[in-house]
Amino acid sequence: MSGVLPAGFVGELERALGPEQLIREAEQLRTYECDGLTGHRVQPALVVLAESAADVQATVRACNAHSVPFVARGAGTGLSGGALPVAEGIVISLARLTRILEIDVERAQVVVEPGVANLDVTRAVADAGFYYAPDPSSQQVCTIGGNVAENSGGAHCLKYGFTVNHVLAADVVLPDGELVELSVWDDGPDLLGVFVGSEGTLGIATKLTLRVLRSPEAVRTLLAGFAHTDAAGAAVSGVIAGGILPAAIEMMDAVTIEAAEAAVNASYPLECGAVLIVELDGPTAQVEEDLERVEEICNANGAKEIRIASDPQDRYAVWRGRKAAFAAMGRVSPDYYVQDGVVPRTKLPAVLRRIDELSTAHGLRVGNVFHAGDGNLHPLVLYDGRIEGQAERAETLAREILVACVDAGGSITGEHGVGADKACAMPLMFGEDDIAAMLRVRAAFDPAGLANPGKLFPTPRLCGEVPGPYRVHPLEKAGLADRF
Ligand SMILES: Cc1cc2nc3c(=O)[nH]c(=O)nc-3n(C[C@H](O)[C@H](O)[C@H](O)COP(=O)(O)OP(=O)(O)OC[C@H]3O[C@@H](n4cnc5c(N)ncnc54)[C@H](O)[C@@H]3O)c2cc1C
Repeated sequence: MSGVLPAGFVGELERALGPEQLIREAEQLRTYECDGLTGHRVQPALVVLAESAADVQATVRACNAHSVPFVARGAGTGLSGGALPVAEGIVISLARLTRILEIDVERAQVVVEPGVANLDVTRAVADAGFYYAPDPSSQQVCTIGGNVAENSGGAHCLKYGFTVNHVLAADVVLPDGELVELSVWDDGPDLLGVFVGSEGTLGIATKLTLRVLRSPEAVRTLLAGFAHTDAAGAAVSGVIAGGILPAAIEMMDAVTIEAAEAAVNASYPLECGAVLIVELDGPTAQVEEDLERVEEICNANGAKEIRIASDPQDRYAVWRGRKAAFAAMGRVSPDYYVQDGVVPRTKLPAVLRRIDELSTAHGLRVGNVFHAGDGNLHPLVLYDGRIEGQAERAETLAREILVACVDAGGSITGEHGVGADKACAMPLMFGEDDIAAMLRVRAAFDPAGLANPGKLFPTPRLCGEVPGPYRVHPLEKAGLADRF
């Protein structure tokens, strides 16, 4: 099945790797043909199951020698098609690189391989009184390598920052096979900062040094139900304007409450149009004082019901519904499309109303679950793929939501990345000069355009001859007309 690969390439891989590290059968390749963005599927010509940095290096060197494109893959939970294979290329899976290499409590650092699951970092340091702050809802399975590539966020990133704020160093196999170490202690330009969030287009991370935080003295979690998202949004603004910085503020609307209840029975108030989960952490006295003020602010904004988690089990129950919200949509709709956009916090009510209008106009329900504190929306467009035209209508509606986010001064992605899904939406935010500059940075790392091609940037192949409002295609502008 590797007929599309150049002669000699497979032989080179066979000499460098064990036979059980190469997947070639169509049946098995199917596992790798998409990530969470299930509407896009491409079967790769071959998959390499790397077991060490040396395996990654040998594979990338062979790709470079034979001009074979490659796509890194962690757990394949990305929702933007970042790990979508290239038909005439290979996938390099990092899923077997799951060792925690070093735990240095004194320096609050952990060194891991890229295939370690996000939650396993916290599990490894919990007994010593530490935790790893970035907490995507997929944290039980998504990998640190994928988190770094996507600069992933999570509920607790409002207070503690995204992945980029917690990565101290990375070993990276560059697209020509050279292994380099990038770190926050390097002199010169912040190349680690450039690498984090580059979605597998600048190389493959093979080792990561992460900052872990001391577990807070106290954590308190409050659930407040409101009649409408407007009132819940006003409470969010009130909390932030009051000078309180919660660890997390999450919002769910009526559709999402219904789905979460059906899936995990989290005891959310079904008669409410919106719920907020507000979590406070820090020194006990400060947390108790802030909790009282948050309760007051919620009441002042018309909260219909307030519940404060009484113990860790209760807190877990409050979070269970939120963490399960995406998957729970399966309870209320056969299919759904997850959108990821950002708006300034003050524009939340207006944009939610616009989403309502779009939902009515397209005749499709939209559930909203989001990181309200930082304005990161996750509208879930519900549709039935068995009904002719609904999938296309869902995609159009999701795209129009993005336009609404950008028009409100926001952005096309908060945390799920651009990937293949939103490459054509980049012109909504960036002019041709901006993209040409980004493409030149990419070309400095990957002059041959082999690392995850077709992602992030609009290409004629992906988006038509002249995507967006461009007069000159940014690839041409950057002098890279036939690459990526
Ligand atoms: C139910 C659900 C909830 C989610 N919730 C959140 C959330 O709250 N916050 C959030 O940010 N995301 C969320 N996501 C999206 C996703 O889980 C994250 O983007 C995650 O970081 C992807 O990790 P992964 O290991 O699955 O990466 P993959 O999907 O395998 O890959 C993602 C990208 O990273 C690249 N990549 C993977 N490994 C490496 C490596 N070692 N070196 C270089 N590039 C690499 C790939 O090429 C691809 O471009 C959610 C997804 C699901 C399904």
